[in-house]
Amino acid sequence: MTSFLVDYTLGKLAKWLRIMGYDTVLCECDRNRAFLEEGARERRIVLTRKKSLSKREYRGRLMIVEADKIEGQLEEVIRRLDLSPDPDLFFTRCLSCNAVLEPVEHSVVEARVPPYVYNTQRDFSICPNCGGLFWPGTHKENMEAFLRKHNPTGPP
Ligand SMILES: [Zn+2]
Repeated sequence: MTSFLVDYTLGKLAKWLRIMGYDTVLCECDRNRAFLEEGARERRIVLTRKKSLSKREYRGRLMIVEADKIEGQLEEVIRRLDLSPDPDLFFTRCLSCNAVLEPVEHSVVEARVPPYVYNTQRDFSICPNCGGLFWPGTHKENMEAFLRKHNPTGPP
């Protein structure tokens, strides 16, 4: 499975990679050599907008993202790295801290979400690390629509 080390210049992109289930660590890469070293050890692909970073030493794969807007960035990363996002992995990671989410009983979340969400969503997950609660909701629809548009040969 492809994993990433994403520079803070691409925070939104990191969130969407997590939504797709990619193991994604955020860092201020050019100020933090330790993150880069660990990233190389874990064979993460570095994504950044800082052209200066490409000249620095990173033993692994590094991609300078050119697009300005999130949709273009996502399209660019998928195309240039030839990724094929697997819908089965969508919403398996915490958007805040990247930990792998665990399913949680529908009844357990009642006190923590608005009634509308409780009544309309079925699949809730909880983050064992930060306690964050997630449900696919509109993110999932947005992502599926995006992938249909940009990757018509891929999964639906
Ligand atoms: Zn979390």
